[in-house]
Amino acid sequence: MDFPGEVCTTVFYGGCNFRCPWCHNADLVLRPFTLPEISPEEVLNLLSRRRSWVQAVCITGGEPSLAPGLEEFIRSLKSCGFKVKLDTNGTHPGILARLLTDGLLDYVAMDVKAPPEKYNLLAGTKVDLESVRESIAFIKNSRIAYEFRTTVVPGLLLEQDLLAIGRLLRGARRYVLQQYQPAGTLLDADFQALRPYPGATLQSMAQKLHSFIHKVDIRN
Ligand code: SF4
Repeated sequence: MDFPGEVCTTVFYGGCNFRCPWCHNADLVLRPFTLPEISPEEVLNLLSRRRSWVQAVCITGGEPSLAPGLEEFIRSLKSCGFKVKLDTNGTHPGILARLLTDGLLDYVAMDVKAPPEKYNLLAGTKVDLESVRESIAFIKNSRIAYEFRTTVVPGLLLEQDLLAIGRLLRGARRYVLQQYQPAGTLLDADFQALRPYPGATLQSMAQKLHSFIHKVDIRN
């Protein structure tokens, strides 16, 4: 699931510029310094030992585009022959554009948290929407595989919000609705009590989104 169609190793970067209240990586986002740090050299060493059966690396977070050494690390992975997928919230379009232009990415998954008017609420902070829009455009115009994805937070995101996101992404190749999963240590513990929408509700939303996006999937 971290890299569709590939056996991959996932690398987590600590720290994030969002505070999505339902985020289940609270330690990674708020207290990355409490977690063991693994150097890029260690990761590359480990990957070289797995080379015969791991072909790809998913880089996720947190928000990896905040990390100063990201590009260098990805270049090292590519020079060893790994395919690279980047997960991002799309707030650093300049970095994303450079990685795409230099052919350093094979797959991008960008979170689209909400329609514009609800973005700050869902991201838990003030968001530069222009950056988000720019990242969407860069990804849509790229030739690599990609997905936009939204965690369908019950009560906060309604059908009309998903349709507004659909309009924002109009013409995209792939959009994934992610079922809400209140697992792990959430940033806001109150979100633990929220019950996911029934599967049929997500199916119905996905159907309606087909008028904007060709391929709409549901991820449970
Ligand atoms: S869910 Fe939100 S807060 Fe958590 S890592 Fe992703 S963007 Fe950051």
